[in-house]
Amino acid sequence: MMSNPEKTDLKNLTLPMLERFLQGRGKERFRATQIFKWIYQHDAGSFGEMTNISKDLRTELAETARISKLEPEAVEQGSDGTRKYLFSLGDGNAVESVLIPIEGRNTVCISSQAGCAMGCEFCLTGTFKLVRNLTTAEIVNQIMAIRCDVRAAGEEIRNIVLMGMGEPLHNLDNVIPAIQIMIDGNGLQLSNRRVTVSTCGLVPEMERLGRELPNVNLAVSLNATTDELRDRIMPVNRKYPLKELLRACREFPLPGRRKVTFEYVMMGGINDSLEDAKRLLRLTSDIPGKINLIPFNEHEGCGFRAPTQAAIDAFHTFLIDRNVTVITRDSRGADISAACGQLKGNLENRKEII
Ligand code: SF4
Repeated sequence: MMSNPEKTDLKNLTLPMLERFLQGRGKERFRATQIFKWIYQHDAGSFGEMTNISKDLRTELAETARISKLEPEAVEQGSDGTRKYLFSLGDGNAVESVLIPIEGRNTVCISSQAGCAMGCEFCLTGTFKLVRNLTTAEIVNQIMAIRCDVRAAGEEIRNIVLMGMGEPLHNLDNVIPAIQIMIDGNGLQLSNRRVTVSTCGLVPEMERLGRELPNVNLAVSLNATTDELRDRIMPVNRKYPLKELLRACREFPLPGRRKVTFEYVMMGGINDSLEDAKRLLRLTSDIPGKINLIPFNEHEGCGFRAPTQAAIDAFHTFLIDRNVTVITRDSRGADISAACGQLKGNLENRKEII
């Protein structure tokens, strides 16, 4: 819930920003680390809880700053254990996040925008257009709210994927600080190897991400092997066609032996033929990468169809036989509309899952 918007929400600040915030008020720098740990490691919701901070400073902070929190308005659990969370942002907007527990490795898929401006034809979020960017606080608060649930079960969150609602690279000014908080040893303490940012292909922003956060994983939502088809189903391609996108992938500074993940949503009769598989192989063969095949989830109001099992198997086998690392993702959370491209934040019909 939003409250006292005129006060500085400390969850919008990375540790260096918090240091500057305190120094600007004549406070010692090391206090920032203490406060940061209280917020992210002890989940403190008020300054009163920060017992190693002087009472005077706590009182002063309470007058100028606040610590926001998101609480789920609705949680829905699918038959495979996937949980979908609806968070109200306090201004009439809402976003969804998904917890995917696979063999004890909890992955959380978070949103970066309410709605999305990219307009991919097959995606429900895109039909809402962009409503607004999420703040850094709103991005990290999705993780922290879900962490409460995960910890109650004696577990931890292991992976974060920015693949929920919105195009993360269209909100880099807030996404970069949020990731810095996630991977800070005094913050959420997640390994940068376990944070993946997905993009539909905003080339200049991919370059910026590579410069500013070179250690996180990159996933590219490819979905088509010709500019003709990609122009049609992903309008971003008209600005940054395949050649440019693949160059940016090639140049992305992934450390060590890490690979770019190419997401490929398979749609029946659209991009699921062996010809597509051959082109996909050709396009990506000189990029250290792996391919995630995601069978399309049919949803109302969208004309695309799921591929047949035979088409999925043939596509998968073609790539595997040529030594490509390929995973066909099962549609986790499909029965609760939590699967890829199905998140809509109930911006229209909130009653649906409450
Ligand atoms: S697939 Fe991603 S980038 Fe495309 S419209 Fe949906 S949320 Fe936006």
